[in-house]
Amino acid sequence: MRIFKENRDHSRLAILKDIPVSLEIHQGIPGTAHFRDGGSDQISCLGCTVPRCMYLSDSDIECSHIKGFPCDRSVMACPVDAIAWNDRSAAPVIDQQRCIRCGICVSRCPVGALYFSDQGEPEVNMTPGDSVINMRPDQAGQDLHACQIEQLLQVPRSGISLQASDPLFETIYEKLQRLGNAYHNPVGRNLLIALGCRCAMRRIGDVYTRMDAVYSSPAGSFGAVEIEFGKDTLDASRGILDDIAVLNTRYGVHKHNNRALVICLQLPNERQGYWQVVKDIRVVEGIKLSTITVGALMFLLWNGCVFEPENDRYYIDFDNMDLRHIICIQADCDSIPLSNGELGIMEPNK
Ligand code: SF4
Ligand code: SF4
Repeated sequence: MRIFKENRDHSRLAILKDIPVSLEIHQGIPGTAHFRDGGSDQISCLGCTVPRCMYLSDSDIECSHIKGFPCDRSVMACPVDAIAWNDRSAAPVIDQQRCIRCGICVSRCPVGALYFSDQGEPEVNMTPGDSVINMRPDQAGQDLHACQIEQLLQVPRSGISLQASDPLFETIYEKLQRLGNAYHNPVGRNLLIALGCRCAMRRIGDVYTRMDAVYSSPAGSFGAVEIEFGKDTLDASRGILDDIAVLNTRYGVHKHNNRALVICLQLPNERQGYWQVVKDIRVVEGIKLSTITVGALMFLLWNGCVFEPENDRYYIDFDNMDLRHIICIQADCDSIPLSNGELGIMEPNK
């Protein structure tokens, strides 16, 4: 992971003539802004001085509830280094081969200039509409631009940025399964951040901090995170007991305040001991572990949701391994266009 902000060319800096009242995001068309006067426009890239599509903020990567956690300082928003600044166009450019279609960059662009094409590839709209005005890239222009970005982040958004399907997830999971270990934690961390959480990921090489990350949600739930991309999720449920103990003794987090979370690629199948261990932990310790898949997190993101595990919403165990109904409620949809058992994303595949 790169950790330094690059020097970029800001020769093309723009703002909007007016702040929209709403923003619509759909697959296949750049984000559409609706204005007070009834007009609408597809917004092109503003050439941001600090592009949110590329960088997280320092506060995103810390967990305010767990002070002193030794977190990795990488602020790259793309977990697989697939997005970079192109000085010639003064805009971000995406390496489609590396891209895993997570949608983090798309969700973070404040104007929807970065959107998913019909083919499901993130693209940058470079066609300026009537509502965009160019600025001098001097300090005054940059300050005005930064101020407007803060306002744009408050504009309500609607729409589904990428339509889920079996073939799409098959392509995504093929890429995820080929990723090196160093990318697993960034995928989990950056998805949680894009879904409205703060998340601090363990510093690489820190052998004393056993958990992969700690997070806090928009409503204030917080806890340890284990991110498991391999088949051995049993380790994740056992490891999280260790994490709960560490957060209790070293950081003063009482076990019943710890909304611990396991992020896995696929829900373990029924024969694996994972679900029984999760149930045992609830019965013996009174702790309800949350379990969610990378695919389910992406689905929530494409549907404009936040991740909120309040009220143990994501607790599933041996008696009920069905994530689908929980995701339907969170995404406010009647059904999810994924076959039953597909890749173990919404329910185990066996
Ligand atoms: S794609 Fe969006 S966030 Fe990225 S530089 Fe352009 S306007 Fe800014
Ligand atoms: S969709 Fe995800 S993987 Fe692709 S460029 Fe954006 S952040 Fe990176």
